[in-house]
Order: sequence, then structure tokens, then C-alpha cells
Amino acid sequence: APPPGPKPIRRLEESLINRIAAGEIIHRPASALKELLENSLDAGSTSIRVTVKDGGLKLLQIQDNGCGIRKDDLPILAERFTTSKLSTFEDLSRITTYGFRGEALASISHVAHLSVLTKTKTSPAAWEASYVDGVLVDPKTRQPSEPKICAGNDGTTITIKDLFYNTPTRLHALRNFSEEYSRILDVITKYAIHNPTVSLSCKKATSTAPDLTAPASKSVPQAIRLLYGHSIATQLLEVNISSSNPNVTSGEDEEDEDAMDLDIPKGPIKWSAELHFSNANYQAKKTVFLLFINHRLVESQRIKRSLEAIYHGVLPKGTSPFVYLSLEIDPRCVDVNVHPTKREVHFLNEEEITEKIADAMQQKLAAQGQSRTFEYQT
Ligand code: ADP
Ligand code: MG
Repeated sequence: APPPGPKPIRRLEESLINRIAAGEIIHRPASALKELLENSLDAGSTSIRVTVKDGGLKLLQIQDNGCGIRKDDLPILAERFTTSKLSTFEDLSRITTYGFRGEALASISHVAHLSVLTKTKTSPAAWEASYVDGVLVDPKTRQPSEPKICAGNDGTTITIKDLFYNTPTRLHALRNFSEEYSRILDVITKYAIHNPTVSLSCKKATSTAPDLTAPASKSVPQAIRLLYGHSIATQLLEVNISSSNPNVTSGEDEEDEDAMDLDIPKGPIKWSAELHFSNANYQAKKTVFLLFINHRLVESQRIKRSLEAIYHGVLPKGTSPFVYLSLEIDPRCVDVNVHPTKREVHFLNEEEITEKIADAMQQKLAAQGQSRTFEYQT
């Protein structure tokens, strides 16, 4: 038989395209929650409550007391690329808020049942809206509809039900509810450390007592004490370091070439870092590493490894440190767009900056080591 000819290329249905794209951004309940938390923090909330059922797959609800959403904005809220945080391409390089691409709520509406209850301070009433595939619909008929007036407090409550109901393979891969729940708790814990003045809590829908309460506290070390315990809080060292002290020069010329028509600053890159890290007396089984770049929780194996390396001569083999690092860099030097979930971030002069931070930590650890020997002698 003759070899089969090429098959015709067909355009995928739009709803399928959207669902695939949404799955790239919303991997699991904890990634949906991270987006919602960032939105609530962007909205200036001082109190955020999370309610969860079945690891967030059945229900994920987040209630905040932030600025709320204007009624007129509700019809396009869950459309792709609708945002209050970015209006020109140039803005992309000056992003200081967490969200910026207007994709989170849209994505969620393609893989779950999304509803929003919101009230701004100046609005006399609250408004409720439900969304399916980016469109504001009536929750019963699922037909395009208007927001509905109702009673409610200032702020926003976002409710996500039946996450991944229309992507059975994804749903099947996430059937360990307790693992999904602990990932949710982990995200909340980390944001609570980084935002000590915001009160955060999380509970299961079936219980009255929260599993996590982070009352507003004054400082990052206080929040660490509350959430990671007394034993670690008494063994913390602090370092604050910035580009002006010590001086960091800008990178090689190649980077400037790429940056030609983009708005990348010339001269030294401005940055500052705040660190809270355990001393030699604290020995964890696994490294706890909290990394915030421009207030966004991100991951970097490279930075983690560089900072862990400092402890090699300090901690007994097989034990690990706790490190919290909040790094602020001129937003024009950070590329937050390399990863759909914004989890991975690239920035200019990464190696050089990491080295400066590591050196500062090492000095502090060494100084503490000396004073300790001194204490023992006296
Ligand atoms: P982005 O955060 O990138 O703008 P999202 O899809 O996460 O995109 O949110 C779209 C818009 O909805 C935001 O720009 C913001 O105006 C509004 N919004 C979302 N969540 C909240 C909230 N909790 N409080 C106030 N406004 C919100
Ligand atoms: Mg957002």
C-alpha cells in the first residue's frame, strides 16, 4: 500500500485552545491560590482568609478587605489580557505589582467555575458575578448576564469551584488532596512571612478552626517566629545589603546590546536585599528557602545552591539552614516574563549580586561564630 499522505491541518476549537493555555498558568490549586493572593495583596488588603475543600479542587475561596473591583469592570474581568496594572508596553518594564498580564482570572474561568463578590468603599452595595470561559454568565442558565446586586462587605471574595472539571487527566493527577492542601498552606505561610502586617488565615470548609493563622505582626522575624516556631526564631541572623553598599558595577556589554531599544538602565544596577537566615546552632533536615524578588515568591535553584554552600563548613553534614531572602531590583532589570506562572525570574547580573549576598552572609556567620567562642571562654 502507498504510504499515507499528510493529514489535513485543522484549527483547534477556541475553547480547547483557551483550556490548554489556562493549564499552563494554573498547574494546581496552589498556583491558582498564589495568583489570588497576589491580587488581594495588590489590592491593598490587610486581612485575607482562605477556605479550602478537597485540597482546593472542590472549593478554593479567598476573602479579602482590599479596594474591591468597580461594578463597571466586572463584565470584562475574566477576559484574557484585561488588567488594571498595565497599559503600555513600556509599563512592562516598570512592573511593581504582582500581577500584570491580566491572565489569572481568565485562565481560572476556563478550567473552573469562578465567581466574584466585591464591593468598593464608595459603592453602596456589593456585586456578584459568575464566569464561564471568560464570559460573565448567569450561574443557573450559564447564559451571558449582568452582575447581580447583593449585600457584602468592602473587599473581594473570589470563589473557585470544581477546578479542572473539564480537564480530567489533570484532575486525575491531583487526587492526593492532603498534598495539594499542604502546598496551599506553604504558599500562604511564605506570603505571610513576607507580608507581616497582613493577617492571613486558612481553613478547611469542613472545620471551624483554621489550620493556619498568621495574625498581623510587626516584622519578618516576628512572623517567622509565629509560623516556623521559637527554636528557629532565636537562631536568626539578619543582613541588609544593597548596591550602594558595597558597590556593584553593571554587567558586560553584551547585555546592553540586547537591551538597546528596551528601557534598560545604563550604569550600575540598583538593588537591595534583606536576609534572615539561621546560624550554626540551627540544623534542619531540609533547607527552607524563601525567595522573594520584587515581592513576588519565586524559585531559583541557582541562588539556593549558592547560599546553601556557605553553610558547608558551618553545619554538620546532612543538616540544612533556613534562609529568607527578599531582593528588590530595579524592575527594568528583571524579566518576569520567562515563565508562564511567573515562578521563575531572570535578572541582570544575577551571579554578581548573588555572590555579594553570599559574602555578606558568610561574614555575619563567621562573626557570630567568633563571638560564640568568646562567650564560651568567659
Ligand atoms: P492581573 O493581576 O495580572 O491584572 P488578574 O486576572 O489576576 O490579572 O486580575 C485582573 C484584574 O482584576 C486586576 O488587574 C484587578 O484590577 C482586578 N482584581 C483581581 N482580584 C482582585 C482583588 N482581590 N481585589 C481587587 N481587584 C482585583
Ligand atoms: Mg493577578
